[in-house]
Formats: sequence, structure tokens, C-alpha cells
Amino acid sequence: MKTKHLSLLFVPLLLMGHAFAANKRIQKKIPMNTKFNYVVDQFADVQVLRYKVPGFESLTLPQKKLIYYLSKAAEPGRDILFDQNCKYNLQIKSLLEAIYVNYHGDRLADEFPKFATYFKRVLFSNGIHHHYGMEKFQPEFSLGFFLQQVNSLPDSALPLAKGQTKEDLLQALIPVIFDPSVEPKRVNQADGEDLILTSANNYYEGVTQHEVEAFYNAKRNPADLTPLSYGLNSRLVKKDGKLVEEIYKVGGKYSAQIEKIVSWLEKAETVAENEKQKTVIRTLIDFYRTGDLKTFDDYSIKWVHDTDSRIDFVNGFIETYGDPLGMKASWESIVNFKNIEATKRTQTISANAQWFEDNSPVDKRFKKPQVKGVTAKVITVSMLGGDCYPATPIGINLPNANWIRQVHGSKSVTIENITDAYFQASQGNGFNEEFMYSKDEISCKEKYGELADNLHTDLHECLGHGSGQLLPGVSQDALKAYGATVEEARADLFGLYYTADKKIVELGLLPNKDAYKAEYYQFMMNGLMTQLTRIKPGNSIEEAHMRNRQMIARWVYEKGEADKVVELVKRDGKTFVKINDYDALQALFGKLLAEIQRVKSEGDYYAAKNLVENYGVQVDPVLHAEVLARYEKLHLAPYKGFVNPVYAPVLNEKGNIVDVKVDYTEGFLQQQLRYDGIRK
Ligand code: ZN
Repeated sequence: MKTKHLSLLFVPLLLMGHAFAANKRIQKKIPMNTKFNYVVDQFADVQVLRYKVPGFESLTLPQKKLIYYLSKAAEPGRDILFDQNCKYNLQIKSLLEAIYVNYHGDRLADEFPKFATYFKRVLFSNGIHHHYGMEKFQPEFSLGFFLQQVNSLPDSALPLAKGQTKEDLLQALIPVIFDPSVEPKRVNQADGEDLILTSANNYYEGVTQHEVEAFYNAKRNPADLTPLSYGLNSRLVKKDGKLVEEIYKVGGKYSAQIEKIVSWLEKAETVAENEKQKTVIRTLIDFYRTGDLKTFDDYSIKWVHDTDSRIDFVNGFIETYGDPLGMKASWESIVNFKNIEATKRTQTISANAQWFEDNSPVDKRFKKPQVKGVTAKVITVSMLGGDCYPATPIGINLPNANWIRQVHGSKSVTIENITDAYFQASQGNGFNEEFMYSKDEISCKEKYGELADNLHTDLHECLGHGSGQLLPGVSQDALKAYGATVEEARADLFGLYYTADKKIVELGLLPNKDAYKAEYYQFMMNGLMTQLTRIKPGNSIEEAHMRNRQMIARWVYEKGEADKVVELVKRDGKTFVKINDYDALQALFGKLLAEIQRVKSEGDYYAAKNLVENYGVQVDPVLHAEVLARYEKLHLAPYKGFVNPVYAPVLNEKGNIVDVKVDYTEGFLQQQLRYDGIRK
């Protein structure tokens, strides 16, 4: 599962997570940023960024070659994903490309800019539906403009299917592009409707939800302790009245693309770092050749156990968010290598897990006598593909099969160079100046914000969720619908409490005793005010992480009100968070941590309900309106995505690769067209 998506929000606040290297690096980084252009493009509600791949140059030649081959293996699945998202996507993409490339008029005049925006949106979303909201987006150019463009193209430039005429093509695609009622949603989750018939994705054809469920229920054996991921790598269709799976494999569905993936994986196999990794690649190739889900499980198990290799990758049918029934997986790839410096930090935290547990403000009865920290690996991404591109997660936790996770464990990674790019791109966008109380808070954030925020996430992930214990007889589910919010609050509070502890400075995780203040300020400002930018007027807060943040912030604000620990002050009609007493704030976080742990350990449902309902859910409508108005004036694009770097092999006279160079100059459209084999 993807642990986190940054998609929705404006980034600085959402950097509630993820790893950053030692502050030495951060300080060094700042002058370099002036040259590196993080922002590549902006259109509709999207901003496209670029990420750096620090450390690539110092890898060995075989490692560079391995990354190069795996990166090439991350490209061919692109069309698989477009096709999976909607059966019209590939033809629409090709048609839009033909119009774009062959357009002879003024590209800044008439309706062309509107056309270009729609085209970019389709490319960014891997289809005609919004990548996050799932709804179909509408073109702003006219049908007349579209017809004029298509009619000016020769048949040879059109993506005609076998036997299809230009008229057939237009008849098929015009409603799909222009009529809002046709294929309106990629994934429909509305309760009570036939989720298969009403979703525009292409995982099923001619089947009802009932038929799909009956088909897969017949395969499942509830007593099976190692169940296969049925349906994961296939399309289910009705043929001559019978249900048939079209398997994604060499010789099956998507054979042309999968063959290309396999040929690059075979090259990668020759430069694998060790035998274990070689077997991982070999087993994945076997899976692509056979489509056998048992082989996929074997592959996943081997992949989980390969923890020594520096380079790692995902390539295949992994996540099931695109299927309303959560069975069919979209194709994706992500290539990366371990960030050794940053991973040391998570190791340090885990190695001291028992100390943190023993010294927390929680009642002794609720503490774990033996605690084991989780080591999350920090990685540097070097290539994104399929459903990880252009919009990408900032953390990944795989494999998804529950029984494999239980028996063999899982790999959890945080992606540092991606969060770094978000942070850098957000500098100077006006957000801090608009919402932070004074220059002091801004400069503290500039110096330590990234570092302290990532430390907080590490503490949250490596220790927070694993800390504490339930009293005997208390059920995991005792808090019911409030369980998720309480659990996130527990992890957040554990992290907040310790971010300010002198032990953190002793362990070298923060450079001095004031750096944590950046995180405290950011947390309070987010929880009390700025996360409201993601809530529509009139709505209350529903999402568990957001409820948790407001609950914590409002609780400590209220409990510290008499002593003015934290204030909401007005200046020129604008509200600001002002923290007067950071020590007292830490003590309040500790107090709430003790209470939240008690609620969890005792399964105190009513206390959980009161905390969440009283502090986490309701929104102050006046403050909400103010925050939305201020945010809107900044014109920030709420969704982000990335272009990849370009890897170019350097060959000697004999044609052997002697080095691999990274280039960061490619634009968004340029890259998209290159992936589709088009040069413009
Ligand atoms: Zn969490």
C-alpha cells in the first residue's frame, strides 16, 4: 500500500512525513537550489516538479547499469496503465498527440491553449479522468475546434482501429470526450450502485458486480492460509455467455508491452548486485511469462527478504485502488536505491526504542515491557513509471498480500528526494509569509522545518505506532470508528513529545535544543488553521489523519488557554497562531499522550468518542472562510507530479556501457512525447 500521497494538498503542511538527511546536507543544499529548477510546468490544478537523484554519481558502474536497465523496464508499461484506466484512453491519447504535433496555427491563439491544457491533463492523469478525484474532466475547447483539427489530418495520422473510418472514430470518441454523462467516473464507490457497471475503468467488460463477485468467491477457500491474489493480473470479460480472465502476460493481454519489460529485466539480471537480487528479478520474469499468481507470491516473498541490496525496485501489477472491488491491480514501477546516511537515522531511533518506551509519560501498565522499533528504509527514487508517475507516493509499504506480510514481513520505505523536491518547490510560494506569525517562525522553519518534520515522521512510524500495549482482554477494535483517529494521534503525540526531548539532540538527530520548535509551530498552525484549506465550505473533518491533527491542536490549545501557552491572535483582520511557551506545550502533548494511550489500552470507547467529536470534527466556519480566502489568493496548485530525469549510457568504441549520465533538463510534454516515441 502506498503509505502517503501528497496529491491533495499544498505541500508544506503535508510534509507531516518523511525522512531527511542530516542537517549538514540541508545547509549545503541551499545554494545549489538557486540553479536547479524544481518547477517544470503548471496547468489546471496541477504543478509538475522535477526531483534530483543525489548520490547517483557515486554508485558503482554495475549499480548505475542496473538502475539504467530497471529504469528502461519502467517505461513500456505506460500504455498498459492508460488502457486499464479506461478503454478509450489509448485512442484518445494518440489522437490528441496527432493534433498537437501536426498543428500549424499560432499555438498561443484561439482555442489551442485550451486544447494544450486538456492534452496535458490527459497525460498527467494517465487518461481522461482526474488522477485523484476519479471524475472525468471536461475540455474547455469547442467541439468545432476539435472537428476542424481532426478533419485536417490525413487518415494515416489517425489512430484508427482495424476497419475503422474517421467517421467511426469521431462517433466513438466525441461523447467520451465531450459528454459529461458518458463514462463520468473511473472508480465509482457509491453505495447501492453496481460498482462495476458504473465505473469507467477497463478491468471488466460486459459483466455485472454480482457476476464478478460470484466468479471470484468460487475461487476462494476461506480455510486457505496462503490465498492467492485472485484476479490481480487479469481483465474479466464475458465471451459467448461465459466469464473468462484475460491474463496479463507474455503471449496474453498486453503481451507487446510485457515483452519489452521482460527484455529490460533480463539485461538487469546480468548486473544484479547479488544472488538474492538475481533470483528476485528472475522470478519476476517468470511471473510475466506465465501470469501464474503463485509465482507472484514467490516473487513477493523473495523481494521482502532481499534487504541487503543497495538498489531496489517495484515493477508490476501492484495496487488495486483503480478497481472498486479492490482486486485488479494497475501497472506501476519505481526504481530506487538506499539512502545510507538517512537510513542511519531511522536505525538510531529503532536501536533506542526501549529507552523511548521506558521514559514516555504513559502509565506503566500501558507500556510494552519489550519494544521493537521498526526500521524504515529511506530511499532515493531514480525512476517513476505507470501508476507512480507523474503523481507519486512519498512512502511505500509492500507487499500487499496480508498473509505474506504476517509471515514474512513487509518493506516500508520513505522517499526522501521526492519530499525534498516538494519542500524546495514550496519555498517562496508565499504560503509561509501569509500564514506564519512572524519572521522568527519563518526563519526557524527555513532552517529546521524539513529536518524536524522528517524526524517527527520517523518517530511516528518507527516508534509511535509500535509503542504501548492493550490491557488483557481489550479488543483491537474496541474504539470502533474512532480507532483510526486515536491510533494516529497516539503515534503523532509520541513523536511530538520526543521531538523536543534532549535525548534527540544527544543522539545527533537534531542539531540543537531549538530546532524542534519548527515542527511544533508547523503542527499547531496546521492543526488549528491551515489544514482547513482542504475542507470545502460547510463540511466538517472526516479523514482520520486530519481529525487527529485538529484534535491534538485544539485540545492543547484549550488546556493551555488560561496560561496563554498558545494563542490565536488577530492582525489586520487575519488570524495567526502564536506559541508563547514551548516547554509548556511539550508538557501538554505529554499529558494528552498519556490520556490517549489510556483510552487505547483500556478500550475506552466513550472517552475516544468525546475526544474526537469535541476536538477533531467540527470546524469554526468563520476561521474556515478566512483561511480559504487567504489560501485562494496565493494561486497554488493543489496537486503535484514529477518528470523523471533522463539516464544516458556512455558507450566506448566497442559499444559497452562505461558510464551512465543523468540529465535534468527534459520538460513535461517533451518527456511524455518521448515515452510515446514522438519527437517534436
Ligand atoms: Zn501513522
